[in-house]
Amino acid sequence: MIKTLRFPLLTLLPFCFCCFPEITALKDGEDPTIKTMEDFSGYPIHEPHFPNAVSSLSVDIHSLQKQIDELSTFSDTPAPSVTRILYSDKDVLARRYIKNLMGLAGLTVREDSIGNIFGRWDGYEPELAAVSTGSHIDAIPYSGKYDGIVGVLGAIEAINVLKRSGFKPKRSLEVIMFTSEEPTRFGISCLGSRLMAGSEALEKALKKTVDNQNISFLDAARSAGYAKVEEDLSSVFLKKGSYSAFVELHIEQGPILEEEGISIGVVTAIAAPASIKVEFEGNGGHAGAVLMPNRHDAGLAAAELALAVEKHVLESQSIDTVGTVGILELHPGAINSIPSKSHLEIDTRDIDENRRNNVIEKILQSALAIAEKRGVKLSEFKMLNQDPPALSDESIINAVESASQYLNLGHKLMISRAYHDSLFMARISPMGMIFIPCYKGFSHKPEEFASKEDIANGVKVLALTVAKLSRY
Ligand SMILES: [Zn+2]
Repeated sequence: MIKTLRFPLLTLLPFCFCCFPEITALKDGEDPTIKTMEDFSGYPIHEPHFPNAVSSLSVDIHSLQKQIDELSTFSDTPAPSVTRILYSDKDVLARRYIKNLMGLAGLTVREDSIGNIFGRWDGYEPELAAVSTGSHIDAIPYSGKYDGIVGVLGAIEAINVLKRSGFKPKRSLEVIMFTSEEPTRFGISCLGSRLMAGSEALEKALKKTVDNQNISFLDAARSAGYAKVEEDLSSVFLKKGSYSAFVELHIEQGPILEEEGISIGVVTAIAAPASIKVEFEGNGGHAGAVLMPNRHDAGLAAAELALAVEKHVLESQSIDTVGTVGILELHPGAINSIPSKSHLEIDTRDIDENRRNNVIEKILQSALAIAEKRGVKLSEFKMLNQDPPALSDESIINAVESASQYLNLGHKLMISRAYHDSLFMARISPMGMIFIPCYKGFSHKPEEFASKEDIANGVKVLALTVAKLSRY
């Protein structure tokens, strides 16, 4: 049955957030999305050119779940695990699947030379910078089927929701599927968005990068149909201002939303990691023959530095500062041999770049002091990467919050402690993220799960958010 507009005046007004409080008074059983779509569309949905709008305004969660399940079958490991590595045969098939769905949604599909995929819905002022949304579909070995996927398939469904409603965007809307958010194959995380954001260092590095089978990045990309011309890679760069906004829908990958029974996380900042590689060299020797006063033990230097990392992180007195020694290797690694070399890799993260860099400086000072005290050589202290954290844009935070309120969904402001393509999109566009709960916070393993209800809520909030942003 066709609903009549209860707030016909709103359809005549330019859409703005101040409208939200007035239109939250809904009757029981009424789907607030439907009302909003009517409002967004600028005219009643029973206009003759939207004959089927009423029946199709809500999220088609059954199709969306089916797509999530189907996409998970493009995997190199058996279900329920998912393994989808950049430019593998399964990755190429999955990409085809995404492009097909974009086409079915009526989007104009294009790809750049490393395989970032874009599906565009032209607005009625197509010369304006577009509003974009998206995520990734690559999956680390033996992981799950929701990480990233929800933000790509969910974005296409958000477009479908808006199209079915009769909504016409002023700015174009663009769905992006980023190439290789996971560092699995070439050791570079957020490869697609990092290059899109104009990393010249990455462009150079990619020309020399090989995987663990000694296959070069360029050969792998070519085998998947990309990077046809080597110089192509800089064509991936996008200028600042190419998008007026970027929003990413993602599972939380942590337990907070589920534990607190909250539907939507509104991300205010993304913590960024810095990775440090450290190597000590000592004398080594026989575990029995070399007496304690004569030792220069590279292993103990590493152990001492690992404890110093913890100490310096805690000294920041901020809960947002974290540090981890995830790799600690000793050479030669025999029980009866004093370690002659040690190798550590340290990950430290914060949402405050100065505070994080201060911790890194203290770690360096400790490494120098430990080396001197123990008579070992600090042969390497190298920053592997040092990405700046990103803050979400105020207007996008407001848009996500207002959409959640309008849909009567509990929401909370939160920090993303994992990082995402959004971290790099923030370099070229105002950025924001929407989190939905996931079972026990599990991610990167087959048990990863998000309920249909939570996914549908996330898609609705995303649809309202990009619709709102496309009107600015
Ligand atoms: Zn992800």
